[in-house]
Amino acid sequence: MSIRPDIAELLRAGCSDREVTRRLNVDNRTVATARTSLGLPLHKPGVRPASSPQDSFRQRTRPVDGGHLEWTGHRTNCGTPFFRWMKKGYTAGRIAFVMQHGREPIGYALPGCGYRGCVAPAHLEDQPMRDQLKTQMAGIFGGAA
Ligand SMILES: [Zn+2]
Repeated sequence: MSIRPDIAELLRAGCSDREVTRRLNVDNRTVATARTSLGLPLHKPGVRPASSPQDSFRQRTRPVDGGHLEWTGHRTNCGTPFFRWMKKGYTAGRIAFVMQHGREPIGYALPGCGYRGCVAPAHLEDQPMRDQLKTQMAGIFGGAA
C-alpha cells in the first residue's frame, strides 16, 4: 500500500498516532497502518530517554563562542569527559569524533582548535590526523619530519 508522505513525515518525526490523526484530520486506522508499514515502533509518551549515545552526548554539551563545544557532563578522575548510555561507558571525545568522521579514532581524540576541553566534533583530531599535520608543516617549512 502507499503511505501518504505527510503522515510518514510526522510519524518519522516522532509524533504519536493521536497527534497525526488530529493534525492531518485522518482516521486512526490509516495512521496505525502507516506506522506498521514504515516499521516504526509505537510512540511512548513522557520524557524520552536519550535514544543513542550521540543524543546522550548532545544533552551534555553547551556551545560556546567560536563554534566550540563545552562539556557539561561528568568527568573521570583524570578529567576526561565521560558518560554512560545503556550501561556502557563512552568518552565524549570518542563519540564526537565518530559523529564527525564516521570511524573510530586511532589513539586519543583531542581538540585541535586550541580551546581547552573542546568536544566539538569538527574540532577533534586523532593521532593519524595530528601526524599528517606535522608532516605537512614539515613539508612547508622544510623541517625534519
Ligand atoms: Zn573547539
